[in-house]
Amino acid sequence: MRKVIIFGVDGLVMPLLKQFASEGSLPHINTMLKKGSSAELLPFISAWGDVNWVSFLTGQCPGTSWIGQCMPPDNTTSQNLLYLLEQAGLRAALVHFPESISARAPHFELVPYWGRKGQSPYEISAPAMYSTLYGARNAKSTPKRQKLGWPPAAALAYHEKGSCKPIVIEAGEYRFQLANSITEPTTVTAVPAGDELLLRLGNETAMLHIGKWSEWVPVSVNGAQGYVRFFLGKYIPEEGSIEILQSQVLRSEGLSNNPALEAELVSLLGPFISKWIVKISPQEEYLTSAIKEAEYQSLWLADSATHLTRNCGISLWATVHRLVDEAHHNCLGQYDPASPFYKEDTAAQFGEVIRECYKVLDRTIGRIMETMDDETTLMLVSDHGGVPNSYMCDIYRYLAKHDLVKLDGEGNVIIEESRVFLKDERGGLEIYINLLGREPKGIVLQTEYELLREKVLRALGNWHIEDNGQCRNAVSIALKKEDAVGIGYWGEYAGDIVFAYNTGFVWGVSATGEDICPVEAPGANHGPQKPTAETAVSSNYGVLLAYGKAIRAGYYRDKAVCGPHRMVDPGATIAKLLGLTPTALDGTIMDDFINNEGDKK
Ligand SMILES: [Zn+2]
Repeated sequence: MRKVIIFGVDGLVMPLLKQFASEGSLPHINTMLKKGSSAELLPFISAWGDVNWVSFLTGQCPGTSWIGQCMPPDNTTSQNLLYLLEQAGLRAALVHFPESISARAPHFELVPYWGRKGQSPYEISAPAMYSTLYGARNAKSTPKRQKLGWPPAAALAYHEKGSCKPIVIEAGEYRFQLANSITEPTTVTAVPAGDELLLRLGNETAMLHIGKWSEWVPVSVNGAQGYVRFFLGKYIPEEGSIEILQSQVLRSEGLSNNPALEAELVSLLGPFISKWIVKISPQEEYLTSAIKEAEYQSLWLADSATHLTRNCGISLWATVHRLVDEAHHNCLGQYDPASPFYKEDTAAQFGEVIRECYKVLDRTIGRIMETMDDETTLMLVSDHGGVPNSYMCDIYRYLAKHDLVKLDGEGNVIIEESRVFLKDERGGLEIYINLLGREPKGIVLQTEYELLREKVLRALGNWHIEDNGQCRNAVSIALKKEDAVGIGYWGEYAGDIVFAYNTGFVWGVSATGEDICPVEAPGANHGPQKPTAETAVSSNYGVLLAYGKAIRAGYYRDKAVCGPHRMVDPGATIAKLLGLTPTALDGTIMDDFINNEGDKK
């Protein structure tokens, strides 16, 4: 049976992949490069995960496939790739894939990635840090003047984690309450046992060793069952200082649309986690705990790919792993010489963290390759890359200056008094005319529609910043909806104007009210910057490495000569690899990747 395994990676970039592979750090990925085919993939605007993963896996442009974040299109209506599989009696497994695409039965969907605010319905206890030093850990640092991300209220770009919770010392015991165990508090105690600690949770025990994750322990949180483990970060009894990390706890059941298959995977591979507690940054004290958690998750995913495709009749398996993107967001701004925050003396330590994350990925690919059979094609793919931030842009402040939107005293948009607006769920690069009769709070007459679009385009074209004697345009592309067909936008959901920021520009809100200004902290981003943004080190293009069944060996598609492949081209190619005809798909079969010398590898 033909099978395709898609190991999706949030934000992987080709220049770093090639650099680390040529240094010898990525032996398995190097095999993919040498014995398979590779290319850059051109993301759609905005170059962020949801819209591009949906386009990738449906094989259809955003005009057809993209409604909004966490708003999956109907597979049957759009006749996308998953529909084609279903019609041919084939099944896909989406394991921890973004929930903006639906893999309802007969497909298998396990723990879709929760991209919304609030606690995931699969999580019963959030990952947490407990400390006797929690006061100092939670001491308020100077609040940031800028919030980066879309929608404007979100601050996702910094990948901030939760606050620290207290450990109290009572009668020689260390005690804390498990995160989220509110209706039925779950007390955890730890007692000294030589250089180690013996942890007790109900009737269960586990040994804690410094710098290591414990065994998994069954736990009940507010009546729901799951598994938890702990990492002993610090243990200095004479100073009374102790710090313990707790893994995320997902429910033991109810994670998928197929309870039997779900139970089989958990009993074979152990508990799954969807996130780690510590931020991926060299400035974090317990970074190693996060790298270990991410590798545990990554190998779990790899083993599930092997099991589901080899033993459970799954033809197409896909996931998205999110370690590398977090490393880029937190480290590229100090590693890439094009960043305003680059310093020669600290660049190496940030580069080392990025390299470590790529190595986790490499070991994962090695694990899949070890057990891959001759009927399987493996694809290592990313949805976009990342490029350092230099300037922050607040689109609402700027449009307000041009009398196009109305803001209240706190800078929030008043839609019913605004002539244009943006939609939170669409990624922040589409401007909608607030048309009477079309929009819920519409005020603009149809007769004003065209003139308003002209006014918006003129304003976007004039948006710039003077910095260090240089003038840089904020916006790189701005198109009317009917002109955006060439970049994949059409249909009832597309904005009246589609645009993208320039290389190094990021969306955000400044407490001091600028509509455009230098960023205050190092970082890197992808969503707002144009899909083709590049520096010598970074790139906003996605990547595709293919290897195995039917794939040509040793081929790299040079985008400067042939152009990149588009985010929808792999969908058509996967259809071909699985023996389907990609009738309603938008992509082109990537014939240059296909081995035309018969069926051998
Ligand atoms: Zn990201």
